[in-house]
Amino acid sequence: MGVPEHRAQQAAPLPLSPPLPNFGRGGTDTKGVHGGEGQSGSPIIGRASPAGGGGGFFPRSKSEWYNKSVSNPSSLLPPSLPVYRGATPDPKAATREAVAVTRRGLLPIAEIFYSLQGEGARAGQATVFVRVAGCTLACSFCDTDFRVRREMTVEAVVDEARGYNCPWVCLTGGEPTMYDLQPLCDRLHKAGLRIQVETNGQHPRPDWRLDHITVSPKETEGGRLHPWYLEHATEFKYVIDSDEDVARAAANPAAGLPNGPLLYLQPNALNPDAPRICVEAIKASPSRFRLSLQTHKYLQIP
Ligand code: SF4
Repeated sequence: MGVPEHRAQQAAPLPLSPPLPNFGRGGTDTKGVHGGEGQSGSPIIGRASPAGGGGGFFPRSKSEWYNKSVSNPSSLLPPSLPVYRGATPDPKAATREAVAVTRRGLLPIAEIFYSLQGEGARAGQATVFVRVAGCTLACSFCDTDFRVRREMTVEAVVDEARGYNCPWVCLTGGEPTMYDLQPLCDRLHKAGLRIQVETNGQHPRPDWRLDHITVSPKETEGGRLHPWYLEHATEFKYVIDSDEDVARAAANPAAGLPNGPLLYLQPNALNPDAPRICVEAIKASPSRFRLSLQTHKYLQIP
């Protein structure tokens, strides 16, 4: 990593969001991942075998989901986590470094780039992507390298985003909601920009006044979905590898239902069988599911 940018403009340290939750993984050792620290008040949706006992894993209603997740959250977590094969060589170290940057009052940025949004309801719209470094998870299939490459002030990020003369900014990661980005969101809004966030849904962020919220829950990777997103997300996006993933999407007690967020199935680009699974599921539940493709990959753009 190079010399920090705009070090002279350092502000007070950026407060972190509620304690770094659920970070890390260790193969099948889920203790560090699902330990009790920082988890109270953070209901989760988890994964289990659809055939699993105990009344079934997938809740039938929002209240059932909420009660189950609050009363016994660990019962909803996967019994073990897949082996990490993600793009960040050492995700835990990368996240520690990113958090250290925030303690110096700067934003840990992996990259800022201008492209088209490839996925979900905003697919095809020009967007400035601000990829924040660090993540609360280390998903086995993560295709994003979220190491810190730039240390920037809020003002520097806003100036760079404005420079593209594009109305939309997408805060992505890594996991942007693990930091308090309210000052950044306020400044972006003040500059007349609209803000999308892409998140795994672990932290509610009502104070950011987001214009478009995309949630991609990662419960199969030990993630936890905060119920705030059931009410406030614009869209949920589930990466589909199997029928179990479709069942997991269907278990969302709000998405795809009347007045709820949109519900997208997105085939895992690495699985040749995934498009067929998605198409069949959408044809079987036409009023619930929609298809999201990673169109930027087809276009071979970032
Ligand atoms: S939540 Fe997203 S950015 Fe974080 S490890 Fe998982 S896939 Fe990667």
